[in-house]
Amino acid sequence: MDQQRAIIIGAGPAGLTAAYELVTRTGIKPIVIEKSDAMGGIARTVNYRGNRIDIGGHRFFSKSDRVIDWWLNIMPAQAGGNPHQAIAYHGMHRAVAARAAAPDPEREDLVMLVRPRKSRIYYLRRFFDYPVTLSRDTIAKLGAWRLLRIALSYFRSVLLPIRDERTLEEFFINRFGRELYKTFFQSYTEKVWGVACSSINSDWGRQRIKGLSIWRTIRHAIGKLIGFNGSGEVRQKNTETSLIEQFLYPKLGPGQMWEEVARRIKEKGGEILTGYTVDRVNSNGKRVISVEASGDKGRRVFEGDYFFSTAPIQELMRSLDATPPANVLEVSEGLVYRDFVTVGLLVRTLKIHDETPDGKKLISDNWIYIQEPDVLLGRLQLFNNWSPYLVQDPGTVWLGLEYFCDEGDGIWSLADGEMVALAKEELSRIGIIEETEVLDATVIRMEKTYPAYFGTYDRFQEIREYIDRYENLFLVGRNGMHRYNNQDHSMLTAMMAVDNIIAGVTDKSNLWSVNTEEDYLEEKNGSGSQSSAN
Ligand SMILES: Cc1cc2nc3c(=O)[nH]c(=O)nc-3n(C[C@H](O)[C@H](O)[C@H](O)COP(=O)(O)OP(=O)(O)OC[C@H]3O[C@@H](n4cnc5c(N)ncnc54)[C@H](O)[C@@H]3O)c2cc1C
Repeated sequence: MDQQRAIIIGAGPAGLTAAYELVTRTGIKPIVIEKSDAMGGIARTVNYRGNRIDIGGHRFFSKSDRVIDWWLNIMPAQAGGNPHQAIAYHGMHRAVAARAAAPDPEREDLVMLVRPRKSRIYYLRRFFDYPVTLSRDTIAKLGAWRLLRIALSYFRSVLLPIRDERTLEEFFINRFGRELYKTFFQSYTEKVWGVACSSINSDWGRQRIKGLSIWRTIRHAIGKLIGFNGSGEVRQKNTETSLIEQFLYPKLGPGQMWEEVARRIKEKGGEILTGYTVDRVNSNGKRVISVEASGDKGRRVFEGDYFFSTAPIQELMRSLDATPPANVLEVSEGLVYRDFVTVGLLVRTLKIHDETPDGKKLISDNWIYIQEPDVLLGRLQLFNNWSPYLVQDPGTVWLGLEYFCDEGDGIWSLADGEMVALAKEELSRIGIIEETEVLDATVIRMEKTYPAYFGTYDRFQEIREYIDRYENLFLVGRNGMHRYNNQDHSMLTAMMAVDNIIAGVTDKSNLWSVNTEEDYLEEKNGSGSQSSAN
């Protein structure tokens, strides 16, 4: 009997996970079709003249042991002296057992670093803790007048909350008061989504920023002052270190993980074709029978027994040979995406420093949220602090300036030179660099980075019901499911689809239930949180 085949659209984390699971756990041969020439999708690493860019900054953290073990099976954690290093993120902890022969990153490349997480908010040309804390520093920087306004507007919201809370703006105001919302949430959130918070459904806030309240922030601040933590234990002297957030990170950026996974898939008999875009999906009743793809080398038809799609669902719907009902098409055409431009800037030095007993040092943030409303810049990555190995010359600073935009809009359409000029001017205007310190620059455009929870998203169920009728078609990943999925969620959907194939299950509800739990990757430690966008 011929070997069964699975056709997988896209070589991002979800597509490659599906292929790896199939090739290691089943007799089904995976054939991955990727339109670009890179492995890793949004989580690829771009190498620009020896300096590597991680598009978006990818922390490797998951509450799923299955995912963490999977990553560490591909790339073991670095030798660190501590046999049970803990990684922690947003109040969740995971032990990472270092192997006896853990690799030393100074000598080997295939290694996961354990990196500390630090990110701050830049506002009023000053740094504020992220998540927002009610520390003396925050109070001093905000000033008495602004604090008074924050307090008054907060109490107004407590006494007179907006009753029928419909928009994200109302969600924020009811929880923080108008003034605090304007200080720490409005500008960044509107940069990410490109629309006013008053146009975004409050459900997004409920899903992304739940469990967050000013009272928890105040309780946390008081707890810190009197040395009492939320779990009822008196803080031990050394507790602070264990609270430092850490995440796993491939030595050469996230793309390294996916390049290695791709290598293993091919080694075990899977196929990965690059430069082919799938643009037609042929079906027969309840089953998909083939996909068609075009590329530089012409057009090809791929027949298969199982099909996985990580392509944006809107594009998949357009490729179906059987035209979906009008209502389903209306929903899929109304889905909205947000796109992304990263400017890599290599600079000699920054204007801002950390003062340490050993002198001035590079600030230790991985990334900084730019809340300043007078610039378009949304977020700043310091790649040196993700992994020093991303930077060719450790004497330089390798930055990623992130601009959220819509494909084809003013930012997206700027010529590379104009984009670099904008990035340099804005970063110098807000006091982070001198333009004369810039040594080199590059521009990367990435489409459909954010599936939006507005547009027709509230009717997404209509697409799901329609597409789930194809029993051998599995929608997985982030854009594949139009879900705000991180790598781990994207991977879990792929793993579970393979579980379903092995178990002969055609119902897809377990895949749709990933990343719907109440508390995942959200604030748990009692301090405020930016409406962060991954
Ligand atoms: C700014 C930002 C920061 C992030 N930070 C984190 C983080 O810190 N931690 C984390 O875990 N996750 C993070 N993520 C999420 C992570 O990037 C995604 O979860 C993950 O990349 C999704 O994997 P995927 O395979 O579903 O899709 P993608 O990564 O989008 O890959 C899909 C692939 O399919 C290809 N493709 C699409 N259509 C076709 C077609 N028709 N034919 C052929 N090929 C096609 C694409 O070229 C692409 O390579 C972040 C995302 C962004 C945007």
